[in-house]
Amino acid sequence: MRLSRMYLPTLKEDPADAEIISHKLMLRSGMIRKVTAGVYAYMPLGFRALKKVENIVRQEMDGIDAQEILMPALQPAELWQISGRWYAYGSEMMRLKDRHQREFCLGPTHEELVTTLAREVRSYRDLPIILYQIQVKFRDEIRPRFGVMRSREFIMKDAYSFHADRESLAAVYASMHQAYGRIVKRCGLNYRSVQAAGGLIGGAVSEEFHVLAETGEDTIIFCSECDYAANLELAASRWHLLPNEEPQPLSKVETPGKIAVSDVAKFLDVPSSKLVKTLLYKDKSGELFGALIPGHRSVNPAKLTLALGREVALLDKNEFNIYPQLTYGYIGPIGLHGIKLIADTSLKQLYNFIVGANESDHHYKNVNLERDFTPDAWGDIIYAEEGDICGQCGQGELRKLRGIEIGHIFQLGTKYSEKMGITFVDKTGKPKPFIMGCYGVGVSRLVAAAIEQKSDERGIIWPISIAPFHVHLIAVGKDEKVKETAEELYNNLLAEGVEILYDDRSISAGIKFAEADLIGLPLQVIIGKKFLETKKFEVKERENGELTEVPFESIIGWLKDKIHSELRLVNEEPNKEKA
Ligand SMILES: [Zn+2]
Repeated sequence: MRLSRMYLPTLKEDPADAEIISHKLMLRSGMIRKVTAGVYAYMPLGFRALKKVENIVRQEMDGIDAQEILMPALQPAELWQISGRWYAYGSEMMRLKDRHQREFCLGPTHEELVTTLAREVRSYRDLPIILYQIQVKFRDEIRPRFGVMRSREFIMKDAYSFHADRESLAAVYASMHQAYGRIVKRCGLNYRSVQAAGGLIGGAVSEEFHVLAETGEDTIIFCSECDYAANLELAASRWHLLPNEEPQPLSKVETPGKIAVSDVAKFLDVPSSKLVKTLLYKDKSGELFGALIPGHRSVNPAKLTLALGREVALLDKNEFNIYPQLTYGYIGPIGLHGIKLIADTSLKQLYNFIVGANESDHHYKNVNLERDFTPDAWGDIIYAEEGDICGQCGQGELRKLRGIEIGHIFQLGTKYSEKMGITFVDKTGKPKPFIMGCYGVGVSRLVAAAIEQKSDERGIIWPISIAPFHVHLIAVGKDEKVKETAEELYNNLLAEGVEILYDDRSISAGIKFAEADLIGLPLQVIIGKKFLETKKFEVKERENGELTEVPFESIIGWLKDKIHSELRLVNEEPNKEKA
């Protein structure tokens, strides 16, 4: 492609409303343009990168016998009413009515629809079946931001598998796991797969794939010793062993006006870890729960939900008025009648700690378990933190990484097939609901995640496998001979099937170089006056800035070899996940 013919609206400055690197660079490099909040158009350069990612995803799906289909974005409400998700989805679902006042949604996902498509699978002999599509999805984000990273319309690959038994599901799930690893690796990115929170689905096996980037919204916890890795939402942890202490007599102390843990600790001249917080939660029926955790840690709502087996919400300060027996700011486990207490397991190691006295301006000091109170239940309910002991091996320490979730795989089970009454006939001749799995890749998000992981102050650094073009040919100056040579090289490279962008415009070299770095194609081939003396092209690798002089006669072979070897490297490199 000639740059003089290409629609490439670049920007010199960072757009004001762009907060993160990928959003800034995708706008600046002319890859995308905003249509309205959270809705973007892919411009020629952006679309090429998107197609590259799509093709990798497609190849890997086809490679495990998944079959590509295309389902409609427009879905009738009835399907979602049967599964119950029409009501559960809330305002994130884009809903609309047709001229007959029939309700529809623009699909945020396709479990319901794809399940109905399995209706004609009759026998267990036809299973397993894996179907996938690459489709636009819709989510009415309350605050769309970060460009295509958190947009209201986005492109996903979603796959669904149908099985007669759990073993078959586990086998396909494992091959999906491998395929997902290959997808991210082939995109040239470092990633990590982690255990994910299944929420209240209960025991559902589910893993997320994260592209590692400092700017990632998710926190990944992993072990320094074993293969444990989990989303912070779920990550289990243990504490280093604390020394035993001789229990001291319980005493009530005055703490006038001291509510915050740090204030109480300061007032009593102890570390925050000596305090135990009691946080009150309420379930849907209005039942109250007290969650006891160390003063310097915080409750992990997802883990608390799992431990209690129900959704709970933190009691609002205003709600304390409804319960006259509760003293805001001074809640503690001693004498808190009629409220079930769940304590974080780390408290088992604590002696002589401090709790609220359920009385204004007072705390209890030298509190000890069993002697002074006994929780109704124990659970791992706090956020894991760096330096905690790994919950899996009990040896390694936990570390943190930031990641961008670009994939999620689930063993769903019969959740949808049962509700929708979609069955097959099993070995004994009886109808059975399908056992299902579902597997998503954020295709447009993967493009943005690549930029988050690979860029510098000058612009994007494309991994070769997803670069919009491989070579950026830059002709510098007005010399006719230079121009002629560049034209010849461009045509020859095109004929050789090299993906090349040729900057043939009559503008300053400075602008050309700046744009080349901004767009970030892997190989820049520079031809200027110097070439006329040396008969050598200058090739600059965008990633490391390395310059190589390549003679006129060997440039085509050199570039082709370089591209092929880099692509091969990407495809064959051992899995970086465990590195
Ligand atoms: Zn471990």
